[in-house]
Amino acid sequence: MSAASDVIRIVVDGPKCDGHGICALVLPERISLDAWGYAAIDDEPIEDARTLARAKRAVCACPVGALALVGPVERVEQSWRDRGGVRSGVSSAAS
Ligand code: SF4
Repeated sequence: MSAASDVIRIVVDGPKCDGHGICALVLPERISLDAWGYAAIDDEPIEDARTLARAKRAVCACPVGALALVGPVERVEQSWRDRGGVRSGVSSAAS
């Protein structure tokens, strides 16, 4: 099992991004705006439920649908719930 397939990241479709900047307000710890107002993403794996919830809100808030979450979101969320914590080993999501 590849650890890379067991992580969640937020990604931006650069050509689609219109520079509205809403995402950086919703998820400032992962998204900043470049000099022209376009999203610059910190694509480190998301490893806690709180950041994941905010990332989902950022994805939904983007008016042009330029953001997406990639990775096994539901499986990792279930793993977090099963472990009873908000921060656990995302890269070792084996049952
Ligand atoms: S909200 Fe969407 S369009 Fe606006 S900066 Fe963020 S990714 Fe780009």
